[in-house]
Amino acid sequence: MLDATPSTHSAREALRINPAKTCQPIGAMYAALGIHGCMPHSHGSQGCCAYHRSHLTRHHKEPVMATTSSFTEGASVFGGLANMTQALNNIFTIYNPEIVAVHTTCLSEVIGDDIPMMIRKAYDEKIIPEGKVVIHANTPSFVGSHITGFAGMVTSMVKHLPSRAGEKHGKVNIIPGFVDPSDMRELKRLAREMGVPAVMFPDTSDVLDLPQTGKYVMYPHGGVTLADMKTVSHSLGTIALGGFTSTPAALELESQYGVPATLLELPIGLGTTDLFIDALHKVGGVPVADSVAWERGRLLDVMTDMHQYFYGKRVAVAGDPDHVISLVQMLLELEMRPVYVITGSSAPRFEARVQQLLEGRVPEAVVKQNADLFDMHQWIKEAPVDLIVGNSYCKHIGRAENIPTVRFGFPILDRMGHRLFPTVGYMGAMRLIEKMLDAMLDKKDRECPEEFFELVQ
Ligand code: SF4
Repeated sequence: MLDATPSTHSAREALRINPAKTCQPIGAMYAALGIHGCMPHSHGSQGCCAYHRSHLTRHHKEPVMATTSSFTEGASVFGGLANMTQALNNIFTIYNPEIVAVHTTCLSEVIGDDIPMMIRKAYDEKIIPEGKVVIHANTPSFVGSHITGFAGMVTSMVKHLPSRAGEKHGKVNIIPGFVDPSDMRELKRLAREMGVPAVMFPDTSDVLDLPQTGKYVMYPHGGVTLADMKTVSHSLGTIALGGFTSTPAALELESQYGVPATLLELPIGLGTTDLFIDALHKVGGVPVADSVAWERGRLLDVMTDMHQYFYGKRVAVAGDPDHVISLVQMLLELEMRPVYVITGSSAPRFEARVQQLLEGRVPEAVVKQNADLFDMHQWIKEAPVDLIVGNSYCKHIGRAENIPTVRFGFPILDRMGHRLFPTVGYMGAMRLIEKMLDAMLDKKDRECPEEFFELVQ
């Protein structure tokens, strides 16, 4: 399929081939689904909304609902005010959500629609019923990526939903980053194990990983409630996981309400999970639970037992900046060599951080933000790797070059484990290690000479 990829890398500025990112509204839509009783609303044409919904549906294997302003030629020329007003009226009349989270698309941004004015007008004209809420994020997709869109909607949540009234309480806010519902569930479990009462936002567990009951529920019981969002301004502190996805909201909460922010990278692997547990211990004022220390010990044991198979292996990594930064740390903990490290998002801080992590350890590494999978394929052709870790689109390179490929990040369209099993925390790290090891040993078992075909590894 990728037979035409040249075997030497050439620099490109104006063209992306097989981008390693997708568009902003997808991130905003995903964040909005993490609010209980929320209807995500796409202010643009139907095609955008249909694509965003289907992309999320294909990743989560769950129906994703969202409404659209359904722009046609008229709205594109004269502006989308009438469409927005009609849409809000219809949404509250027909679907009766607690909250509508509006995001924009390329088209509504290009024509310069003033979303705050439209929402104010809808409040003034009582199109938004008493007690219901509408928030928004601007998500023009000709800049940024799904990561920017996610961060924008989470920041909008803390701008519009917390209340100044109320008393300090003993809960800790956790902003989980753009991770799967299984990861959010795992982060909450770790907080519970530690005895830390937590409010997680957004929270898509029990929204996009529902059990099969035979009944469709438009607003599943998961998601952070508006009542809980009101109180995040009075929490003990905020633990924000992911510099690109969660930090902006945590800093907004700190500056607006004085809630201290602890800014961390995603807890993927041993070291970054240690920092998350340490933050729960310090912010929550609790000792580290024995059960959590035992989980850590089991991970360490697996890493030690299997170290021989990982040591020195060359890895290509592609994905979202927060995911990749933490994964690189995990690969280094296993003494692997992340030699090609890319993100499709435009994130200059990403290159600096990964270079800092790799400094002196993998001198041959190539690190690139705003990159694409064509870049990565060309580098792999120049000097192959033992393993590729990235989203489903990496499978084409894996097949073309006969390299084991482990699905990780977003989107995963051709496997299902991510919706059930986390990759964050100590348990998540054990799962990732198992997946990487299985992929490499399966290839070895298939291809090695008989005298090296071992029963025991
Ligand atoms: S890139 Fe712009 S036009 Fe294309 S689907 Fe995304 S929001 Fe719509």
